[in-house]
Amino acid sequence: MIELRDYQQKAVNDVREAFREGFKAPFLTAPTGAGKTVILAKICENASAKGTCTVVLVHRQELIVQTAKALARFGITHSIVAPAKVVQNAIKIQIEKFKKSFFRDESKIYIATVQTLVRRMADLPKFDLILIDEAHHGVAGTWLKIVQSYPGAKVLGVSATPERLDGQGLGKHCGGIFDKLIIGPTISELIERGYLTKPRVYCPPIQADFDNLKTIAGDFDRKEQEKRLNKPRIIGDVIAHYRKYCEGVPAIAFCPTVEYAKYVADNFNAAGYRAASVDGNMDDYQRNKAINDLGNGRLDVLTSCEIVSEGTDIPVVGAAILLRKTKSLGLYLQQVGRALRPYPGKSETIILDHVGNCNEHGLPDDPHQWTLDGRIRRGRSSGGGGLACRQCLQCYAVYPSTVTVCPVCGTPATKTKIEIEEVEGELVEFKKRAEKIQRGRAQTMEELIEFGKAKGYKNPAAWARYVYNGRRAREERRRT
Ligand SMILES: [Zn+2]
Repeated sequence: MIELRDYQQKAVNDVREAFREGFKAPFLTAPTGAGKTVILAKICENASAKGTCTVVLVHRQELIVQTAKALARFGITHSIVAPAKVVQNAIKIQIEKFKKSFFRDESKIYIATVQTLVRRMADLPKFDLILIDEAHHGVAGTWLKIVQSYPGAKVLGVSATPERLDGQGLGKHCGGIFDKLIIGPTISELIERGYLTKPRVYCPPIQADFDNLKTIAGDFDRKEQEKRLNKPRIIGDVIAHYRKYCEGVPAIAFCPTVEYAKYVADNFNAAGYRAASVDGNMDDYQRNKAINDLGNGRLDVLTSCEIVSEGTDIPVVGAAILLRKTKSLGLYLQQVGRALRPYPGKSETIILDHVGNCNEHGLPDDPHQWTLDGRIRRGRSSGGGGLACRQCLQCYAVYPSTVTVCPVCGTPATKTKIEIEEVEGELVEFKKRAEKIQRGRAQTMEELIEFGKAKGYKNPAAWARYVYNGRRAREERRRT
């Protein structure tokens, strides 16, 4: 029996309750590190006990091995629908880790990719329960086909971020398949309870220009980002900041392209660190090995484009290096989330946000208002994430705008961009008023003081008094 934490049990209960209320396809969201896999495993365990024919769907082939490993960890036997090579690797990895394999051809719990299921529906049993992992990768047409092919089945989507990367909604009402959002614990709740570590975000400057990046498929052009980042001076800065802020801390660098991930790894190696890059073209076994090497201290830095943003669980990782600028709050949180797991001796997680994602999306532990409506409907063109934050100009730490002194180095806060805009806005209004007064000639003492203020005089009240009295004296003289 899988033991759950209280909020995990609540999530399982909420899902059950949603089905009982007649929803067909709820979506459960819980932050990275909340134990989404454990929750899924528990649901599989319950399904297995009841003999419910279940399929766990993943969106990429390399996630099959990981999901199989996760079920094996809880002793849940499973069948895998995938090419023989993938199945062999999954078995091999299980035997290495648990001394035995939990793969059974006859099991009623299946693991498959979305694409394989659609292709091989006819050969597979009728599923009663369809669990979709990382369900923000909605391919509306494909999912719709699955849901229509199993009209009686219950569907559950889970993800840390209920939002497609292109910002489209996942709800039925906007072209998706889900009909209810179940909200799990927040990142800050999990930090408070010790289930995640506190992120410490730094935005150290690198000399990259991100102005006027084009948007392709809802996110910033990745190829163009690679081009602008691909300079020895920039990579030199990235390595120097790693050395300064997290020397010796296992780190993952998130890159805009596979080529750039390789370039970053090569440069870290040349600088004397042990680095490797992983990508989707690698053999599952090799990739799994590289990820394990970061976990067991054989690597300092692992670089990747998309592979390790999701599903990779390496608690020892204490730093995330962000080198891909994204419009997606979901992607930002997925990446940062990789480094937030607690680990003995890890008191905080260092986020080196070289591309300013936190300016767009706020701090990782800011509250987020999730809906199934998508990014656009939420009312902000970009991400729609967190609250305004400040950046320390001394140490580059980023912290909430409610704090007035840098929590890292104690430097008094500078104004946030919004505050500067507000002050500038007031100034414009003020100047307009002052000009008006000037045009009509300031008459009263109050008008004169205001004029003096607008002109920036050192002591507008004294100046106003001087002018006022001078005028009155002149009038007196004219009268007499
Ligand atoms: Zn500071």
